[in-house]
Amino acid sequence: MEKQDIRQLEPEHLGLWLKEKNLPAFRAKQINQWIWQKSSTSFEQMTNLSKDLRDELNDHFNFRPAQIDQVQQSKDGTIKFGFRLFDGKLVEGVTIPFKDRITACVSSQVGCSLSCKFCATGYMGHGRNLSAAEIYDQVALMDAFVKKESERGLTNIVFMGMGEPLLNYKQVKLATHHICGVEGLDWSPKRITLSTAGISKMIHKMAEEQVKFNLALSLHAANDEKRNQIMPINEKNNLASLKEALRHFYDQTKNKVTFEYTLMQKFNDSLEDAAELVELLHEVPSKLNIIEYNPISAGPYTKSEEKRFNRFCNYLGQNGVQVNVRRSRGKDIDAACGQLATKA
Ligand code: SF4
Repeated sequence: MEKQDIRQLEPEHLGLWLKEKNLPAFRAKQINQWIWQKSSTSFEQMTNLSKDLRDELNDHFNFRPAQIDQVQQSKDGTIKFGFRLFDGKLVEGVTIPFKDRITACVSSQVGCSLSCKFCATGYMGHGRNLSAAEIYDQVALMDAFVKKESERGLTNIVFMGMGEPLLNYKQVKLATHHICGVEGLDWSPKRITLSTAGISKMIHKMAEEQVKFNLALSLHAANDEKRNQIMPINEKNNLASLKEALRHFYDQTKNKVTFEYTLMQKFNDSLEDAAELVELLHEVPSKLNIIEYNPISAGPYTKSEEKRFNRFCNYLGQNGVQVNVRRSRGKDIDAACGQLATKA
């Protein structure tokens, strides 16, 4: 019989398996605590279980953990990790230290099928979805690494690494269940942000589920014509449908979406672009991050000159928009937003 990865089981299935063996339900809680709280990847370590149960678990299940394969440190403190998966594939995660927090950027897929024109991952194509355990592993491994380096653990998680999280929603949601669960890492969902390129149907689904984590939308253009040019997903999920979905999300969760808008030279950084953005921001309860573009070798776009960047931000400020500017981090190691792409 082929063994199954115990961390791939649906939460209720471990309980059912124990029931079949006439074992008490509290064993599931103990096993879950070993797996998700202590990041254990061996049944031998589970010392509060009987030897017979450990052997039984070992006969049926195994672990297929992700492992840190590469680490690159930027001079600004950003760290890029390459995680090797059980089948040899590689995904990347990044930790970004700020004065009062350390944010981890995690991947949800190997590669990405959405082909955004400004993003290195978009040129890789789609490999496969990550399992919830592989997403959890990125968080647990980066947390342990930064704790060792700086004695501070991760404080925030953003799904802004490789892949579109809403195309792997089931596993992303299950990973947040393990990260936020009391038998897991016990995080507050308020410290987690899922960033999407914009899939209206899935945003409605999250609204109906009244999810507790935050939502960000990679906007980058406030009219359909420009957005179609850089994000093919916009052809089937245009701004009208996204605005409707985001208003529904706010109605159900009372949580404002964060729009991410990356400034690209003479593409989306004119005053007309800024005026369209102001209009859109008035239509959806939202916050705004303006991001400095990180050029990639494959794309035609460059970052806005400082003068244009400031002029754009000033216009927004003068029109009542609170602007959070996100300067690029980890550029020297290709760890900045939109630069993640593995070669293996
Ligand atoms: S920006 Fe996000 S959705 Fe677009 S190609 Fe890159 S990883 Fe995929």
